[in-house]
Amino acid sequence: MKEHIDVEVKTKKRGDFLMFQDKVLVCKDCGREFVFTAGEQEFYAEKGFKNEPSRCKECRDQRKSMQRRDSSKPRRELYDAVCSACGQNTKVPFRPRNDRPIYCSDCFSKIKATN
Ligand SMILES: [Zn+2]
Ligand SMILES: [Zn+2]
Repeated sequence: MKEHIDVEVKTKKRGDFLMFQDKVLVCKDCGREFVFTAGEQEFYAEKGFKNEPSRCKECRDQRKSMQRRDSSKPRRELYDAVCSACGQNTKVPFRPRNDRPIYCSDCFSKIKATN
């Protein structure tokens, strides 16, 4: 029994000195195994993250790009403008400038058609 304890203490002690080692985890999303690399573990430890990643890199990237797409949607601002052709209030996706004529969508398509 004493031997067993000694072994445990030894491994624990060594653990403090041990560099991080690649670890195989299972992705929560796709169920595939992926490697939580030593470098990533170090990064996590540095950042103070306590949880291991639950998704593989692919799924994480996918989620990231999905979030980016979502957050970019409402960022498209519309500016109030007055149509230079018919004088109607309209909205444009860019900041209106005085040196450029602004057209409402109706007039814009009309102008485009005549060109
Ligand atoms: Zn995955
Ligand atoms: Zn107009």
